[in-house]
Parts: sequence; C-alpha cells; structure tokens
Amino acid sequence: MRLILLGPPGAGKGTQAARLVERLGIPQLSTGDMLRAAVEARTPVGLQAKEIMDRGSLVPDEVVVAIVAARIEEPDARKGFILDGFPRTVGQAEALDRMLAEKFIQLDAVIEFRVDENILVDRIVRRAKETEERGEPVRRDDNPEVFRTRVEAYRQQTAPLVDYYSRKGQLRSVDGMAPIDEVTEAIRTAIGA
Ligand code: AMP
Repeated sequence: MRLILLGPPGAGKGTQAARLVERLGIPQLSTGDMLRAAVEARTPVGLQAKEIMDRGSLVPDEVVVAIVAARIEEPDARKGFILDGFPRTVGQAEALDRMLAEKFIQLDAVIEFRVDENILVDRIVRRAKETEERGEPVRRDDNPEVFRTRVEAYRQQTAPLVDYYSRKGQLRSVDGMAPIDEVTEAIRTAIGA
C-alpha cells in the first residue's frame, strides 16, 4: 500500500502514520523527520535546511525530492510506504508522479486531514507542553510564531494539492477534528484496510 497523508501541521498526520505503520507493516516516510536527522548530523542538506526550518518555510523542492527518491529505493519501502509531510508543493507532487511512473507503481490513496485552522495553534502549544512534560526535547519550530508561518506555507503552497489529487480521483478526506480513534477508523475505511 502506498499512501500520502496530507494536512496542515498539527492535524494529526504523525499520530495516524504511527498507527498505520503498526497495522500495515510498511514504513512511515516523514520528510520532516529526515530533515531533522540531517540537521542533527550536520550533513550538507542539514546545513542548508536548518535556517529554513527554523523560520517555518519550505525547504526547496529539489532537496526534498532527492531525499524521498533515495528513501523509497530502500528495501523496507519496496512493498509500500506512508508519506507524511511530502509532497508539500505541486512541483513535489509532479516529481513524485514521475518517480512512481518510472517504477510502474501507483499511489493507493491520498488521505486529506480536514481541520479547523483556528484550533491548530492551540494543538501545537499543547503538543509542545506534553513533550516537555515527558522530558523530551521540544521541536524548535513548535512555537506559536513559527507555527503560524508553517500554517501559512500550508495554505499557500500545499493546499492546492487537495485539488491536484482530487482531480486524479485519489483523494480521500477524513475529519481530522474527530477523536484520534475515530480518525484511525475513518482512514481504515477510506483505504479499505
Ligand atoms: P514537518 O515535520 O512535516 O512539520 O516538517 C518540518 C519542517 O521541515 C517544515 O516546516 C519544512 O521546513 C521542512 N519540510 C518537511 N517536509 C518538507 C517538504 N516536503 N518540502 C519542503 N519542506 C519540508
């Protein structure tokens, strides 16, 4: 199964991706996680991405496309994957289409998380607080100011993908405001798993 999770930051994509990993036995490919690892390891990509991520903007398409192209070649992704946080622009979506076409593979579904943008900042503040209480490091970009930039980047650069995948007949929408278990169930129904 090859899935894309599409939705603004704080919509619950990461939480649902973890549950899908358990259920389907395929890896979660989070470009945010991969970029954070690159920043941590101070690779050339990490050095380029750090400042962009800190201000909540999007890393250039060619950088993330190259990361994803390499990642989907790895053995654990052969049978399927859950893309979380990619694609985020129409350019990335087109690059992904080309990548998959070259391999003669198809996407099974794009799950859109529909959420009320007004509650996202509250969610992110809560997420940061809970992370802190667990004694884990809080993401540098999980603060209200940067978060607003991330939501704005979603609105302007990523939201057009809803139309893009809808036209291809691949879009399945779920109510991201519902309780976590209900969202899981809605996704299960949407993908017939
Ligand atoms: P995330 O963990 O998905 O919220 O991503 C954190 C940050 O990583 C974003 O705010 C962007 O700066 C960067 N990033 C992650 N995925 C992408 C992507 N597909 N395209 C561009 N930038 C990305």
